[in-house]
Amino acid sequence: MSPTTTDEEHPGPGTLVKDQELWLEDGNIVIVANGSHAFRVLKSLLSRVSPVLKDIFEKEKCKPDRIVEGCPSIPFYDSPTDVRHFLRTVILGGPGSLRQASLPFATLASIIRIAHKYEATALLKDASSRLESFLIPRPGHWLEQAALPWEARWDMGQQQCGISFEPSDAVSAVNLALPSMLDMPLMLPLAFYLCSLADNALILRHGVEREDEPDVRDVLGDADYTRCFLAIPKLSQQCHASVGRILYAAMSEAFAGCRLNRTCKDRLREMFVYHARDEGPCLVHDLFVRLDRRTSPPAAFVQYKDTLCQPCLDRLLALSEEECAKMRQKLPEFFHLDVEGWQS
Ligand SMILES: [Zn+2]
Repeated sequence: MSPTTTDEEHPGPGTLVKDQELWLEDGNIVIVANGSHAFRVLKSLLSRVSPVLKDIFEKEKCKPDRIVEGCPSIPFYDSPTDVRHFLRTVILGGPGSLRQASLPFATLASIIRIAHKYEATALLKDASSRLESFLIPRPGHWLEQAALPWEARWDMGQQQCGISFEPSDAVSAVNLALPSMLDMPLMLPLAFYLCSLADNALILRHGVEREDEPDVRDVLGDADYTRCFLAIPKLSQQCHASVGRILYAAMSEAFAGCRLNRTCKDRLREMFVYHARDEGPCLVHDLFVRLDRRTSPPAAFVQYKDTLCQPCLDRLLALSEEECAKMRQKLPEFFHLDVEGWQS
């Protein structure tokens, strides 16, 4: 970005910064974000994607006193970073189209905020559906791959949905899903769950800085902070309890397929007792992961798995996958969310 001064006839702030990339030679309108950062772009392209902007441009025709380098200028009371991502997508990517195979979450969030405000409907739909595909589990969704370790699943999810998403992005994702923005409650259970995985718990209370804007933070509202704060110990407790339920189910029913004359049942009972006494840590992200793929496999499983015959081990893992599905079903409850259509 290079500093420039406004035309003498412009009554606005003394110094503007021209955007290095979005200062088009043939641009015919100047957008000034937050009173300081200027973009010269094509009015027709923006009018085509946003009726609100079209209307603003029409009205600005009557104000010849706001001229920057020969173009009418329009103030946007939005962050320059958000405006840049929005304009870049419209001007360089074409209306209503996100052409990039993968986008950082922060870029997508910027586009959503501006497209929502100025009612750029097609672009908003394009951007929000990408976020939706990451956060709303549907058949084949990354969260459902119980037989994959969490890290592999996380990579898979980002590739599936074309988003590079950091766990710390979850706080901003919650705010985008709220009624004041996208109003997509089905995004909330997984977004809150990802908040609860944050390495730095202070993120939950103090939020995260916006990209390139150290003075702007996305913060959870008090009620949403409380949801996460109360859910984390419950999720951790369920991580442990779910193993007990799997082992209990395995040892409770006779299994005709056992190759060791049904003696595996005794091993499973020993595993159950062993696990009940185990006070080892449980990682919250292991809640939806099959026993053998957990980052921190239960000690009882590690200790006894090789003593089971293959059919009994396979059955145990199948029960574990069923338990993961039940936990996914209950995810909204952990956060006291009443979400219609979750996992239906
Ligand atoms: Zn067996």
